[in-house]
Amino acid sequence: MADLPGRVRAGRAEPPVRVTGVTTLPDRRLLLVHAHPDDETIGTGSTMAHYAAAGAHVTLVTCTLGEEGEIHVPELAQLAAAEADQLGGYRIGELAAACAALGVTDHRFLGGAGRYRDSGMMGLATNEHPRAFWQADLDEAAGHLVEIMREIRPQVLITYDENGFYGHPDHIQAHRVAMRAVELAAAEGFAPAKVYWTAMPLSVLEAGMTEFTESADNPFVGIEDVAELPFGTPDEQIAARIDATDQHAAKQAAMRAHATQIPHNSWLYAIAGNFGAEFIGVEYYTLAVGEKGPGSGPYAWEDDLFAGLPDVGPDRAPVTAAGLR
Ligand SMILES: [Zn+2]
Repeated sequence: MADLPGRVRAGRAEPPVRVTGVTTLPDRRLLLVHAHPDDETIGTGSTMAHYAAAGAHVTLVTCTLGEEGEIHVPELAQLAAAEADQLGGYRIGELAAACAALGVTDHRFLGGAGRYRDSGMMGLATNEHPRAFWQADLDEAAGHLVEIMREIRPQVLITYDENGFYGHPDHIQAHRVAMRAVELAAAEGFAPAKVYWTAMPLSVLEAGMTEFTESADNPFVGIEDVAELPFGTPDEQIAARIDATDQHAAKQAAMRAHATQIPHNSWLYAIAGNFGAEFIGVEYYTLAVGEKGPGSGPYAWEDDLFAGLPDVGPDRAPVTAAGLR
């Protein structure tokens, strides 16, 4: 169901026309649950662009507005939380531009924009803000996500591992909320068939450290061993490797859209420049829920998050949007 804008005729506005209709969603539906604007791009941007380009329905749910982020655009410094506290609203626009670059049209904020606030880094006073996502009631927050699942019926969900990939409270909370929502949806019979967590194989980290040793812009500076990093997964525990190198330009455009967060001289761009599209266009996942599909290579990594799913294809009953089922 959609509200059309009010029509103006003979100088008088008429009330909006409610159109009742059934929208058939694509066969393959992917839901991503992220903590802040920019996480979708940095962690999963190539995957999102890859599936959007392939005609899948890609839904992004962002849990906070990222109000506590640093600001890398000097002209916007006074938007900061301690000053005008307008960064969150500004980042809505950055996220919209990033989604456009990735080809993703279905984007929502958990509970609506501004419902949950960026909690800031672990241990800071911002963790205690009454709207901080870290303080969110788990079932209430998960309930918002269940409603989206009920509407979209995603077969595949992507979020973070229990450490939120690197320990940020909002990432940990996004994990908890997503996993609780999967549990609640399962009880109603529409849980995603597969749940993936973002991951970085140790072999890729090791290769990156080696490549960057000679670089002036080394993000691993001061780190002797990958074991010191707060992330990194043994290769044999990785389930899927999504090669979206053909989407690396989309991901870079989305990164540029998050200008307050990613400085133009960031090592993230240096990665793309120095080491080619693979470092930016290939993303990895562990499988937390569901059956692993067929894959290839030494660890039989899937090359498709929908691999092995029985209900993807022309024979599957169509799913309709707008709750009309
Ligand atoms: Zn984040």
